[in-house]
Order: sequence, then structure tokens, then C-alpha cells
Amino acid sequence: MRTFPTSLALALVMTAAAPMLAQDAASQMKHQDTEVYEPAPPIITPGKTDADPPSDAIILFDGKNQDEWVSAQDHTPAKWTVSDGTLKVSKEHGVGNIETKKSFKDYQLHIEWKIPTTIEGSDQGRGNSGVFLASTGPGDAGYELQVLDNYNNKTYVNGQAGSIYKQAIPLATPSRKPGEWQTYDVIWTAPRFNTDGSLKSPAYVTVIFNGVIVQNHFELKGQTLYVGKPFYKAYDKAPIKLQAHGDKSEPISFRNIWIRDLNFDPSYKFSWEK
Ligand code: MG
Repeated sequence: MRTFPTSLALALVMTAAAPMLAQDAASQMKHQDTEVYEPAPPIITPGKTDADPPSDAIILFDGKNQDEWVSAQDHTPAKWTVSDGTLKVSKEHGVGNIETKKSFKDYQLHIEWKIPTTIEGSDQGRGNSGVFLASTGPGDAGYELQVLDNYNNKTYVNGQAGSIYKQAIPLATPSRKPGEWQTYDVIWTAPRFNTDGSLKSPAYVTVIFNGVIVQNHFELKGQTLYVGKPFYKAYDKAPIKLQAHGDKSEPISFRNIWIRDLNFDPSYKFSWEK
């Protein structure tokens, strides 16, 4: 009769015993062992409504001026139009996209936008703008959350409002009519890069569009390109950019734009997990 070699038998016993040892250790823990009091989350005052900025938000546009914005092309002061408490895309030739003066890593962003009732055009030419969640330079595509009139306008679904342009179809189309204000609430986790520029961890985005979740922790494949496959290019912090798409009809308006930095450490571990 054949017998197991002693070392193999021992290995089998140890493998079977490992989960039991972990269970034994867990059963010896007290409930206090998994309850922590540090680090305490900062106490902040929420906004009057969920659309209003909480006390720790950075106000990017409050209806008064575009002081927090610069030209994305040359970083001169932004030359869009501020009127009736709204920030309007400039149709003037050469004005182009604007971006925030400040740069951000992981954040929560609230932004409201409106398509004019006089909107004309179709497909991608109807109310096209965009919120670039990281604008990494004039030569880069960046990471675009599409703005478009999709109330009654057919286009490719990975390019409609609420899409991560050409990468993620929104989970629903909760578009409001032109002339009505619409909201994006965005949670952005920036990509991380190794010192040699290679990707350490991808970007993730969650988007709530008019109160409806349209992107659920979507893992981006890189920058959102008009032509070609997405790819990553290393950056650390980046401004947020708004798109002047050059549509002919009355421009798109924005209002109530605020952001909160998220002090998020994806590698955080509790003591018993280390
Ligand atoms: Mg766009």
C-alpha cells in the first residue's frame, strides 16, 4: 500500500488548518478591537439644500464673475459671458474653452447647465459642451463628461449627455427639456501613476444626472478621444475644463459650480487588516 510522503501530509494538514486558525483568532477578538476613533472625519455644515455648497466647498462660480476661470489655451482671464447669474459659453471666434485656475485630484463636483429653448441643430451639433474632469494640457484630450441636448435628439449613445465620451454609455437618459436647468454631481477618483509614467491605478467616476445615477464607479480606459482608442498620460493634479464646442445657436449656460477636495487614500487599512 502507498503512503503519502510525510512532508506532503504535513502540508495538507497545515492548509486545512489555516482557515481554522484565522477563525480561532477572530473568535478571540472583542467588538472593541474593530472600532476606531481616529482619524475623525471633519465636521462641516451642509448646504441649505443638497444643491447648495457645504461649508468646505470651493466655489467655482456663484453667479457673479468668472474669476476662478482662465482660458484653457493660454491661461489669460476667461472671456465667457456672465449675465443673469449664469456663465455662458462665448460664441466669439477664438475665445474657446475655459478651465479652473485651481487644480484638483480626487473630488466631488456639482455643476448645473442649461440648453437654450432656441437650440438648433441635431446629433452632436445640438447643445454640445462638456465638463472635462481633468484638463491635462492644450494638447491633451482630457477626460470629458459630455453635455448635450438629449431630450429629443438622437446621437451615438456613448456620446450623449451623461456619457464619458466614447467610453461609457450612461445607465439612463434623464435629460430635461431645453430651457430647464440640469445637474451633474460627480465623484472623481484621479488615476495614479508610477514614477516612470506608467499607470498605477485607473481613474474612476460616478455621475448623478438630475438625481439619477448614470455612471457607477466607471473605470476609465484613459483620456476621452474623438478619434482613436483611449490611453493614459501621467499627471498629478489638473484643472476642470468647460467646452466651447462652437455651436451656432444661443450658447449653453452654467451656474452653481462648486467642488470639494476628497482626501481619499485608496490604500488605507485598519490595523487588523495590515
Ligand atoms: Mg462635448
